[in-house]
Amino acid sequence: MKMTLKRKTHIIFAVMVLGFLTIVAGSGSGRAWVIPAGLLLCLTGFLLLLAWMRCPHCGKSLLRGRGTRCPHCKREIDL
Ligand SMILES: [Zn+2]
Repeated sequence: MKMTLKRKTHIIFAVMVLGFLTIVAGSGSGRAWVIPAGLLLCLTGFLLLLAWMRCPHCGKSLLRGRGTRCPHCKREIDL
């Protein structure tokens, strides 16, 4: 199974939403571990974002880019 940029984005989004929901749902429950667990998930999503959102050609960050071309080398990105 090929890991496309779109799939990576979905995974990152899912991890961050899960972390957020863990914090929201757990904050009222009185369980002390849910906040750090939720924050850890959010942090993991953020680190994945930094690690994965890169151009496959030049390796530079795509976080500022829009569309299907790399903002740095202008080459087509496989979404
Ligand atoms: Zn590039």
